[in-house]
Amino acid sequence: MKRLVVGHLFPDYLNIYADRGNIAVLKARAAWRGYELEVRPLGAGAEIRRGEHDLFYVGGGQDREQALIAPELAALGPALREAFEAGAAFLAVCGGYQLLGRFYRDQSGVELPGIGLLPLHTIAGSRRMIGDVLLECELEPGSKRTLAGFENHAGRTMLDESAEPLGRVVAGFGNDGESGYEGCRTGRAIGTYLHGPLLPRNPWLADWLLAQAIAHRMGELPVLTLLADELENEANTVSARRAETRGGRN
Ligand code: GLN
Repeated sequence: MKRLVVGHLFPDYLNIYADRGNIAVLKARAAWRGYELEVRPLGAGAEIRRGEHDLFYVGGGQDREQALIAPELAALGPALREAFEAGAAFLAVCGGYQLLGRFYRDQSGVELPGIGLLPLHTIAGSRRMIGDVLLECELEPGSKRTLAGFENHAGRTMLDESAEPLGRVVAGFGNDGESGYEGCRTGRAIGTYLHGPLLPRNPWLADWLLAQAIAHRMGELPVLTLLADELENEANTVSARRAETRGGRN
């Protein structure tokens, strides 16, 4: 079996709303295409050598957990940015997404350092933005897709002028409840507020990330065999419908 290496950043601290499920989906979908996914937990002081990891993943967490690890994650910043420059892919969810930016000013007003990989910063507001979300995305020109998930955050994320959002909000709050956009995408790095977990109900994004990771390892973008995804697509439809009926209001 061909091997892909995933660096799971601070799995014991940043893992709410079953975000760990995203790793399980990547593992299964990689195996169905003949790839073994080796998942390495990366915590404080972890050694990250250029080119060693094909994909980095970080989940969400409450302000308390973010405060506990932010300085350690920031210390890994230079190595993570170098890995990104070398073509590694990234998926960051909610609290992890916020810490891939420049900083997150939490609900107590403390500014937690980020790694500055994504062109954005986040400031917590008083009202949490909670509920089902539906986005329209176009990661590849001409290939419009939807993403459905669940959000629960106090943070309002402001993208830089030149930054590319992950998608347009069809239903839900998104980055700040006002801009009409959600998440951020820079090359092979994706940041989003969407929990759920995200990937079981959005298999196309799991495959997009796997393809980026394989391209990093093999040097070219693969064409992955299509999977039936009946259950996954049904889960997406249910989640999307919920978002359309009640997303963005709480
Ligand atoms: N603590 C952050 C916030 O409230 C992130 C929450 C999360 O990861 N769900 O905005």
